[in-house]
Amino acid sequence: MNQKEAPRQRSAGGVCYELTRKRVKNINLRIRRDGSVAVSAPRRTPFAQIDAFVAGRAAWIAEARTQVLAAEAEAARPCTVSREEALALFTEISEAVFPLFAGVLDGRRPVLKVRQMKTRWGVCAPAKRQITLNLRLAEKPRAAVEYVVLHEYAHFVHPNHSPAFWAVVARVLPDYKARRALLKAPTSAEQGKCKKEIQM
Ligand SMILES: [Zn+2]
Repeated sequence: MNQKEAPRQRSAGGVCYELTRKRVKNINLRIRRDGSVAVSAPRRTPFAQIDAFVAGRAAWIAEARTQVLAAEAEAARPCTVSREEALALFTEISEAVFPLFAGVLDGRRPVLKVRQMKTRWGVCAPAKRQITLNLRLAEKPRAAVEYVVLHEYAHFVHPNHSPAFWAVVARVLPDYKARRALLKAPTSAEQGKCKKEIQM
């Protein structure tokens, strides 16, 4: 009885979903990237109970699907900024931030890279003395770009998100929370659509 059963399509409360019976303790629901709804449930849970679970969350599911599909559309949208333009912007900001961290970096500038990333605005690899920034970051307001560049530099001091790390960020940019909030502001191309949060 360890084998998974084949999924079956069901519908409840106007929601079509794919049900899989598994050795799980609870009913679990997730929205796939294509917007389809996947539910797993313990073998003995009656269909009526699973349907009620799904139907009771119909509004939440509709909202979550909108966000997932908008995030996918956003990921597929061509970037309005070229890689060269992005690197020029990031380099300019990095030059302003570098002197603050020159000590911990032994006076050597980090290598800046630009990449298309799905879930992060920036990545710091202290061992490689390297900062990778998301190409799409260059579409955001400059105040937000400055925050991300500083955030990644602060990882050369603390390679984590400890209170000490945030103290370094706050010392340089006391308004970093407002700047970070700008990363969530929709760009013109998104027309104010909801989008899944990108984490750093
Ligand atoms: Zn970080």
